[in-house]
Amino acid sequence: MNITRRELHRAAIWLALGSMAAPLRARAQSAPRWSANPFGLGVASGQPRPDSVVLWTRLVPSQADDAIGDSALVVKHEIFADAELRRPVARGETVTDASRAHSVHVIAQGLQPQRDYWYRFTCGNAVSKVGHTRTAPAEGADVRRMRFALGSCQHYEQGYYAAHREIGGRDLDFVLFVGDYIYEGSNPSNAVRQHGTKTPHTLDQYRDRHALYKSDADLQAAHAAHPWILTWDDHEVVNDYADDRDPAYTEPERFLRRRAAAYQAYFEHMPLALPPQGAAMRIHDRFAWGRLAELWTLDCRQFRSHHACPDPERDHGRTLVECAELDDAKRTMLGADQERWIKQGLAGSTRQWKLVGQSTQMSATGFDAPEGRKVWTDGWDGYPEARRRFLQGAESAGARDLVVLGGDVHRHVAADLRVRPNDRASPIVATEFVGGSITSRGASRASMDRMRRDNPDVKHARGDERGYALFELTPGRMQCEFRTTEHPVQERATFATQASYVVEAGRPGVQAA
Ligand code: FE
Ligand code: CA
Repeated sequence: MNITRRELHRAAIWLALGSMAAPLRARAQSAPRWSANPFGLGVASGQPRPDSVVLWTRLVPSQADDAIGDSALVVKHEIFADAELRRPVARGETVTDASRAHSVHVIAQGLQPQRDYWYRFTCGNAVSKVGHTRTAPAEGADVRRMRFALGSCQHYEQGYYAAHREIGGRDLDFVLFVGDYIYEGSNPSNAVRQHGTKTPHTLDQYRDRHALYKSDADLQAAHAAHPWILTWDDHEVVNDYADDRDPAYTEPERFLRRRAAAYQAYFEHMPLALPPQGAAMRIHDRFAWGRLAELWTLDCRQFRSHHACPDPERDHGRTLVECAELDDAKRTMLGADQERWIKQGLAGSTRQWKLVGQSTQMSATGFDAPEGRKVWTDGWDGYPEARRRFLQGAESAGARDLVVLGGDVHRHVAADLRVRPNDRASPIVATEFVGGSITSRGASRASMDRMRRDNPDVKHARGDERGYALFELTPGRMQCEFRTTEHPVQERATFATQASYVVEAGRPGVQAA
């Protein structure tokens, strides 16, 4: 479904290497004796479909077990229908080795729709924690309710993952995480803990960074509790990168080698089915929840045009007043193929709620200054024609009940989306929610109040607290709750509801709950 045959073939080859390749299997150790449990990064599941889910783990041998890690390893997985692990439904094995950082990716197939499953991995005398997951309902099922959490932006140094502890304890169908899963850089202000290593450039350095994040018990709990649906933003590689360009204007060929390393490490640590091919990786995807909802995830980094009117010294996003290039119709956020794919998806969808998970804020956020309107060039404001095409395409396709979900900007946002932003003559065609940031620092209350004043489409914008967004969908309405705590997030932080909003079926736009 929306994955090409060639991509499926590639996934099949990757998985076959792990499960069947005879030479690798013959050399693999099936019963190593570990002195320390190598499953220290936890377990995860993702990409829930009606009949399958992806299971993930990665083994990290301790120094004492270094020699075990040198050879290929057989890792067994078991899936159960009950939390007590008394009713096994499937088992299998995967061969992994150091060339893939001892990561394990299993596409568990032949499962029943809308069911809870429990799973674990074993390797020799080592056993992983038990994870819980849930398959999607059958494509044609009459689903009355769907619940999920939206998260993004979890700078390790800027707070603890108390939000994930709360997410892990909830009854959810899935977690949607829209990017900045790791941060490559450090920011000394408000640091509650340290990366302890320098900015990653190589595959091993990106692996270490992912392993550090995955070592967090609260993050592990949220992964072990629910299947995750993921897309990325910039910090999984480097701040504000755009296609083959990084802020330092590194020669593209060299930057693409770094991007390939970052994508490879990302894949190795996530419950995803499709590995990268060099510097290219397919992450945008589509999910369905019976007849109730369809969810598309978008990739807003890999295919986008370079920033408009860049600073010739350092090309990160910047705040600009005058820049004719912004309105160039050729500029793209998604690339031509992905743009066509989402447009056709929205036009062809017969499901009620159409959700688009993407990495940043789509509504306009510019400031009115004496010298003119100032816009931030790294967000959708830097790609206004691409935004217009997306919303116009949805409008002309008659895509009702469309809700855009985002991250990146470290604030909770509820907004109306119009083809011409902030223009009351342009009808509201969709609704937007941004889920704040798990830990990363956001803008002050005063600056968000000012942004809201200059952008009447934005009904809510708070960057002074951290957290996530919680959603409940029924055929009649979509409810959104912003769950937040003070910045920076302390280890024992508790969460409260900052605000709640609803979207009524058949009526695009934010309503007070
Ligand atoms: Fe971020
Ligand atoms: Ca970002």
